[in-house]
Amino acid sequence: MSKKKELAPETLNAQALHYVDANTGAVSPGIHPSSTYVRDADYQLIDARHSYGRAENPGYLVAEAVLAKLEGGAAALLFGSGTAAAMAVVQSLKPGDQIVAPKIMYWGLRNWFVKFCDTWGLGLELFDAADPDALANAVKKDRTKLVWIETPCNPSWDIIDIAAAADVAHRAGALLAVDSTVATPVLTQPIKYGADIVVHSATKYLNGHCDIVAGAVVTAKEDEFWESVCELRIDNGAILGSFEAFLLQRGMRTLYLRINKACESALILAKHFEGHASVEAVIYPGLQSHPGHELARRQMDGGFGGMLCIQVKGGAEEALNIVKKCNVFTRATSFGGVESLIEHRYSIEGEGSPVPRDWLRLSIGIEAVDDLIADLEQAFQ
Ligand code: PLP
Repeated sequence: MSKKKELAPETLNAQALHYVDANTGAVSPGIHPSSTYVRDADYQLIDARHSYGRAENPGYLVAEAVLAKLEGGAAALLFGSGTAAAMAVVQSLKPGDQIVAPKIMYWGLRNWFVKFCDTWGLGLELFDAADPDALANAVKKDRTKLVWIETPCNPSWDIIDIAAAADVAHRAGALLAVDSTVATPVLTQPIKYGADIVVHSATKYLNGHCDIVAGAVVTAKEDEFWESVCELRIDNGAILGSFEAFLLQRGMRTLYLRINKACESALILAKHFEGHASVEAVIYPGLQSHPGHELARRQMDGGFGGMLCIQVKGGAEEALNIVKKCNVFTRATSFGGVESLIEHRYSIEGEGSPVPRDWLRLSIGIEAVDDLIADLEQAFQ
């Protein structure tokens, strides 16, 4: 008997695992605003999963199943934001436990880690992601319970070796959580390299249209830690709105097309501006000049992502001047949408930010890359 061929991830994703509503035949999942669910005359729920709107929503199930499949995980949960998703992971630790995380990562989360660890009685050790030995030196056997990494790290785009991090974490008795917002499952599946938990700000590429704030956690196995993450979504009320869940599953359907286009354009644009008379450096893992390039080639499959930074000659003032002159790039923070965004990252993060003041952060969308290049060229002139 011939074995049935597994469908490609692009196919599974575009069809949302061949979703068809069993009751109506609808090929698109519905929106379920109901906050409560009826019990029948025997006081039984119609579907045991759904009793109250803060616990579950039928409109989450498709996106959660698709994401778990794409990541190679056992289960996934949607959250009201990427931050809420991360909080559920970190709050699953106990006072006295230690977290190890990169010095440069999404600044909002890093700042929250610092505050939360202080009030919750958790240890926090920050390591330099550009130094391959720093993570192993930061981890303490039996004290470190969570190694948190982000790869590529936002916005230095340092690449962290997930398999090596998983090895270090597991030997110390810790879990490895990977914020894979920038890579998405299209380019990297952290669980394949040994990660226990994958976190996404679904606000970014998963949704892809800058029109919702959402988060997700994926687990390699449904263990006690996962149970705690599930409970915390309910206890924190960290749920996604029903309309946002609908938009998310809809946006996800084009994930592969969007990511592939963004990767292609980002590489062309990065190569164009590397060595440019007005540019000190282009920071993009797809360039050979990037210290993480070789690792990115091994760990990222099919591209290096749509995010890059340009270090402008002339310092902070000149960097801000360039942003002000852009007409095609949209001046806004965030990333991962179909429209390209440009920002002066230091201004967004503010005093104390480790991001150099002459860096511009670019999120490459799906426009014609020549228009994006021409926009920056005219800004540089
Ligand atoms: N992780 C990364 C890499 C991010 O860039 C962000 C937000 O920018 C977050 C997590 C937090 O996600 P959210 O804004 O959806 O709470």
